[in-house]
Amino acid sequence: MKPRLIDTHCHLEMPQFEADLPDIIERAKEAGLEAVITVGTTPEGSEKAVRLAEGNDFIYAAIGVHPHDAKDFSDEVYNALKSLSCRKKVVAIGETGLDYHYDHSQREVQQKVFERHLVLARELDLPVIVHSREAKEDTLRILKESGWQKGVLHCFSGDMDMAEQVMGMGFYLSIAGPVTFKKSRSLREIAARIPDDYLLIETDAPYLTPEPFRGRRNEPAYVSYTANELALLRGVTPEDIARITALNAKRLFGIGQLPQAGEIAYQIRESLYLNITNRCTNACSFCVRFSSDFVKGHNLRLKNEPTAEELENAIGDPARYKEVVFCGYGEPFMRLDVIKDVASWIKARGGRVRVNTNGHGNLINGRNVLPELQGLVDAVSVSLDAQDEATYDKLCKPVYKHAFNAVLEFIKEAGKHIPDVQATIVDAAGVDVERSRELAKELGLKDLRVRKLDVVG
Ligand code: SF4
Repeated sequence: MKPRLIDTHCHLEMPQFEADLPDIIERAKEAGLEAVITVGTTPEGSEKAVRLAEGNDFIYAAIGVHPHDAKDFSDEVYNALKSLSCRKKVVAIGETGLDYHYDHSQREVQQKVFERHLVLARELDLPVIVHSREAKEDTLRILKESGWQKGVLHCFSGDMDMAEQVMGMGFYLSIAGPVTFKKSRSLREIAARIPDDYLLIETDAPYLTPEPFRGRRNEPAYVSYTANELALLRGVTPEDIARITALNAKRLFGIGQLPQAGEIAYQIRESLYLNITNRCTNACSFCVRFSSDFVKGHNLRLKNEPTAEELENAIGDPARYKEVVFCGYGEPFMRLDVIKDVASWIKARGGRVRVNTNGHGNLINGRNVLPELQGLVDAVSVSLDAQDEATYDKLCKPVYKHAFNAVLEFIKEAGKHIPDVQATIVDAAGVDVERSRELAKELGLKDLRVRKLDVVG
């Protein structure tokens, strides 16, 4: 099923939507959205947000008082929000935070009210939706002091340093329509670099309308334009953005169903990836399978390893893809027979085959397996991962002694039997990229690809 977007921040409770709310919701559904979160900014708006959510399965609510209105916050308001928070469709506390651009409320007052929202969120175990405009230092300080590390910086407009600091605390970053404005250079750069696991998407409707509708009233249906731009910036498809951001929204706000079964075949860009095992002979310190079941929104935690027949059924027509890649949330050479059977099936149907491996294939199988792959595998990508054995052992923690030498031998041997051989390293601490490049050259490779930390190899 096609992944659907979740608009994690809009204001359907605001008067701008009073006249045509049913049409707005209908258009959002037609645009393929799965859900929206309408975010209260005043006590009255929060109550209305909850009423709207209770009247419509498609809508969830967040409750809070915007920093602009912090001056009107009181114990009574706090208690009203607290009692409202018990209602089933309330999924977050906020919108709260700091706005030093307009300063509609005194800064000290904004800070106190922000802190009280964080206390409430922590007490209720709900995520907090944070507005931060031109208030980096105080936002970071208050979030750190609160100790509450569950939430999102909505419509993120900070710099990369702020992005890294809030992600370090466990917060998500939500990207809104301004990313479609060509002049938002810094935001576009940051939006391209946020790791998948921290990315959310929103409209902030009725505000911040994306291109090509800038200047008009915004509405949840337009979140797809922001998704398209994010896809271009990140070099993925709009479906990838929908899958990734919807998964994150479900995890953070506890809404909808998380994908349960591990996928055995999943598409990223024009390639089809085969997840054939979760076992591996390394335990790399940077491996994402130790911290998440998901890659690009796909659940890769297998209950059972797939058979060759199951993989072939999942592939369908291999010629539809640029290449079919054996990878796994683990090491594919743990299942050499499956690689050979399915690769032969793919080749017979005009497909191209790549194997992503840690280079332990010969150690695992106790023989030189590369001649067996001749004619079956077009490309192999080997995780070299270090410039020397000591660094490799420290980073990758292989089950074998002298595994690094075996990886070097594997790469050399692969060059004799497989037309396209590549090696990769991760940009982890301790890795000497230049020395690794030299090593790759010595092994007869044209280049070395430097992988980001959150990519399985
Ligand atoms: S990063 Fe790759 S080689 Fe390392 S443990 Fe994970 S799956 Fe195995």
